[in-house]
Amino acid sequence: MSTQVPAISRREVLQFLGVAGAGVALGCGRSGETGVSGAARDNKLRAEIARKVQKTPFVDTHEHLPDEADRLAGLGVPCDDWSLLFHDYLRSDLVAAGMPASEIAAFFSRNVEPRRKWQILEPFWPRVMNTGFGQALRISMRELYGVEALETKTIPLLQEAYEDFRKPGMYEKVLVKESNIESCQVNTDGLPFHESKQPTLLMQDLSFQTLHMDPDIGGLSRQAGIAVRSLDDWHEVIRWWFDRYSKYAVAAKSQGAYLRRINYHRVAQEEAEPVFAQILRGESPEHSRIQLLEDHLFWFCVDQATQHQLPVKIHTGYLSGERIENFRHITQHPHDIIELCRQAHETSFVFLHISYPYWQELIAVAKRFSAAHIDMSWAWALDPAGATEFLKRYLVSAPWNKVFTFGGDYSVVECVLGHAVMARQGITQALAELVEEGWLRHQEAVGLVEPLLRGNARTTFNLEEKTRALSKAPWA
Ligand SMILES: [Zn+2]
Repeated sequence: MSTQVPAISRREVLQFLGVAGAGVALGCGRSGETGVSGAARDNKLRAEIARKVQKTPFVDTHEHLPDEADRLAGLGVPCDDWSLLFHDYLRSDLVAAGMPASEIAAFFSRNVEPRRKWQILEPFWPRVMNTGFGQALRISMRELYGVEALETKTIPLLQEAYEDFRKPGMYEKVLVKESNIESCQVNTDGLPFHESKQPTLLMQDLSFQTLHMDPDIGGLSRQAGIAVRSLDDWHEVIRWWFDRYSKYAVAAKSQGAYLRRINYHRVAQEEAEPVFAQILRGESPEHSRIQLLEDHLFWFCVDQATQHQLPVKIHTGYLSGERIENFRHITQHPHDIIELCRQAHETSFVFLHISYPYWQELIAVAKRFSAAHIDMSWAWALDPAGATEFLKRYLVSAPWNKVFTFGGDYSVVECVLGHAVMARQGITQALAELVEEGWLRHQEAVGLVEPLLRGNARTTFNLEEKTRALSKAPWA
């Protein structure tokens, strides 16, 4: 089936801005009573905001990108053809749309000829092409490959363009040149800290997942050169990781929400000690006792991060993939987030993904607790219209210095561009509507662009100092 790409092109917007302003170009003009002069004023206003948003680089606060060399070596990817562009998230939309597991497996298989994959996708593509994930992909395909529509005749072109593009330098091209991103903050799986070969472009979180949940005692203590015979020893191992890498990490990060509720309580060492001893003996403590240990270790790690002046990023809200056992817990996240803020007065928490879809509650949390920062990574692709609404409501309810407006949240770099284009469209729309509706003055809206795209993240994550440290890192 032929499917046209309706979303705006970045170049089209920029070309059009020079002539008639961004309102019409962005497809977000409002009907109304402003009359001809009012409409002209609105268009001029949108054009100015759009221009500023296009020109201002993003600090991208959340990605899962491997180093470029690893991507080019095909490490950690199920396949290496055009279908890979669907792997982050559109895969889940395809499952939700009814694509059978056997066809999902074939679509992402290395053993199916790339050109044949269209036959597998074709019946399902129209059902997902308008979701945020679908729109991000279509924008990336058009901007990077010049492919406007997925159809039988364009698949060979798409595959050829995918191969042409997949070359050294592709990260710089997508992230810096095309997406106007000055730095990314990457959450790498595996060891708590990844020594990236592109350290100032792919800045890293210190992921404390394996330090507090299902702790990788053998692996992580070996790196630290510490023999672990007690919980005290494990505390030493955690300190080692924070002491060694906090200088280079932008934040500490937990994605525990994929594995449990995020209702961590401060549990004393004496309560956690016997559970840890059971694990050391190779026993399997029951679930409620494991949670005591996780709670204790979570706060131990958070306190380490706080001592090292690292903000703590917590995954909140929607869960990707087909794992559903903890999906029901996302309804509890606003409650759990409030409890986290109540227990930590010195910590800066960054709640990722606006706890989608419970973002109204998150605005109240940011308004109430100085510790709470809200991160819009993933949000524009989860729900572009909802994210625009969130930003509008946030900006007239809570302090603007505590919101970060973009993170692609991808492991496949090509998709970041589409998401960044959507984010710029939504930010422009949110600011312009706030002015048109009389909630912000024109110059106030223009003045917010820099902190929203870049300045807030630079300040909160101390990026000038991190950049200096990273450019001199031993592995750089
Ligand atoms: Zn993520």
